Amino acid sequence: MGPPGVGKGTQAAFLRDALGVPHVSTGDILRVSMQDGSALGKKVKSFVEGGRLVPDDLMGDLIAERLDRQDAAKGFVLDGFPRTMAQADTLDRVLARKGAPLDRAVILTAPEAEIVRRLSGRRTCPKCGSVFHLDSRPPQAPGVCDNCRSALVQRPDDTEQVIRERLRVYAAQTVPVAEAYRQRGLLLEVDGMGSVEQIGSRLRAGLGIA
Ligand code: AMP
Repeated sequence: MGPPGVGKGTQAAFLRDALGVPHVSTGDILRVSMQDGSALGKKVKSFVEGGRLVPDDLMGDLIAERLDRQDAAKGFVLDGFPRTMAQADTLDRVLARKGAPLDRAVILTAPEAEIVRRLSGRRTCPKCGSVFHLDSRPPQAPGVCDNCRSALVQRPDDTEQVIRERLRVYAAQTVPVAEAYRQRGLLLEVDGMGSVEQIGSRLRAGLGIA
């Protein structure tokens, strides 16, 4: 968990590699469905591009289907889900059915000015999902993905007006979810300031991963 642009996707990808479990990013799943022009993609486009949350019933179906896949049988790193109390309830129900309770919830934190700076410099690969930053993590060749050589793009929801809306939605809907996990003793809070490597080592130390 954490505000948009705090580094959830980057750190979740490191955890995927460290733990050998899939990285399930609801934002990535929605972006792929929009690119494919699937029925789901058509339904969610206006929400995603406006920085608003996709309705809970759609997200609940999406996550239940994803976590039922074979590759998630031994665990998964969720990124960007749950974002509302209703989604947290859905997640509890899906996991109870599997007999696999949530191990930890992690929240990455950073001040708003830093978030806006990071998001406006962010460039992503539409093909493999790799994330770069013009200042702090530039690709080896300008505008080209290091992994798969596709052309990098700026997400349409990374413009200043939409960033402000995403931050407002985060404070109103998602911060209460983190508080609920704190009360359940599940929340690990990690300072999201510093280099990608520094944040990664704080995160691994907090989770007790070597
Ligand atoms: P992200 O890549 O996690 O920043 O997500 C990008 C956008 O996808 C968000 O601003 C929402 O419009 C949508 N989205 C991603 N995850 C969720 C979720 N769990 N619930 C509702 N909308 C979501």
